[in-house]
Amino acid sequence: MSLRITVVGGGIIGLTTACTILKDYSSYPQLQLVIISERFSPDTTADVSAGYWEPYGLETIDERTLRWAGYTYDVFMSEFFSTKAARAGIMKVPAYTLYGYNGQNKGKNTLKPTFSTLVRHFRMLDECEMSIFDHLKPTSGFVMSTIAVEVRCYLHEVRRFLGQDPRVKFIHKRISSFQELTDQTDLIVNCTGLGARQLANDHTVRPARGQIIRVQAPWIKAVYNFDTDEGEGYIIPQMNCVVLGGTFQLNDWNTATVKSDTKKILRMCSKCLPALEQIHHGKVQVGLRPYRDDGVRLEHEKTSDGMDIVHCYGHSGSGVTLSWGCARDVVEIIKTLVPIVESEQSKSETGMPLHEQLWRLVEYKNTNHLRSKV
Ligand SMILES: Cc1cc2nc3c(=O)[nH]c(=O)nc-3n(C[C@H](O)[C@H](O)[C@H](O)COP(=O)(O)OP(=O)(O)OC[C@H]3O[C@@H](n4cnc5c(N)ncnc54)[C@H](O)[C@@H]3O)c2cc1C
Repeated sequence: MSLRITVVGGGIIGLTTACTILKDYSSYPQLQLVIISERFSPDTTADVSAGYWEPYGLETIDERTLRWAGYTYDVFMSEFFSTKAARAGIMKVPAYTLYGYNGQNKGKNTLKPTFSTLVRHFRMLDECEMSIFDHLKPTSGFVMSTIAVEVRCYLHEVRRFLGQDPRVKFIHKRISSFQELTDQTDLIVNCTGLGARQLANDHTVRPARGQIIRVQAPWIKAVYNFDTDEGEGYIIPQMNCVVLGGTFQLNDWNTATVKSDTKKILRMCSKCLPALEQIHHGKVQVGLRPYRDDGVRLEHEKTSDGMDIVHCYGHSGSGVTLSWGCARDVVEIIKTLVPIVESEQSKSETGMPLHEQLWRLVEYKNTNHLRSKV
């Protein structure tokens, strides 16, 4: 049985979707999985991101969003406790979120966030725990165990996994319309993020500009999200740097760095961790989050000329957080269009942990890295 699926978009959403398709359709020897993208890592939106797990930048967090987030959390957490963690850049970190500044509460956050039941080690901070943040004078806060993914490493490894399967092909190009693909594919998965504004003619998708600074601050080993008198700041450690943020500027298409934003980020983050005042060098980066007014669009469309398109875009500031969960739902939709024979599906279940079924590390033939000096 031949099946030609084209994923348009090679960001975190496109690649996690491609892996999930490959897993669930592994019994199709004639599967052709093509990933077409104008940009691949290290030039995608998530390469700029801090790869931090927490639903953020979405208008509402509904039951669907929580399901996607919870599944993704579980995948990342099990990857952290696997041989993948080092190469794929997956860190388990404690994350502190502090609401209110200088004793002034925004009045919204004395309740637990809706995602509190999805994560491990969640607790609201008591007065004693809050007192270490007295310099910020927050009025409430919580702590949880979560994940920060170094997305550049993660996408690199995921792409290596996909690339070693002869049924998968990568094409580096921009398309102007889905009609270009009509003769080449049975089904399209649209993972184009902000590109969906033009490709799917969806003007509810717009940029939420984010500027961050990657700095060397090796003493920081936890995440801090906090309010200041100038806005919300965050400090997120990665494998080899710390991400300081940030901005969330709706409808701003500017991909150039802005000096006043850089200064503001440094000022805000130094209010939380004053040692950051001494930081004078860093890599300033900008990305455009694919914000969508009604949240993520994840649904099937049959176009007037008979094309089957499954849309999955509009993840705003949560693309990493929702990635594997959305990918799973995309494939559930594909299964309603191209059913998998049950017995064939179970043949592909190998008893491996779920994350290993989704993608596996591909060994490097050259093991010289083992000889490098310690
Ligand atoms: C500063 C910043 C910090 C962030 N921090 C976090 C965080 O900590 N945690 C988190 O979960 N999320 C975070 N995000 C959000 C996250 O990065 C995005 O939600 C996510 O990257 C979106 O993934 P995507 O694959 O949909 O989009 P993209 O990465 O933009 O991928 C879309 C792909 O489609 C391709 N494409 C588009 N149009 C076309 C076309 N016409 N033809 C061919 N290809 C096309 C593009 O080239 C691109 O490769 C952050 C974002 C920013 C900017």
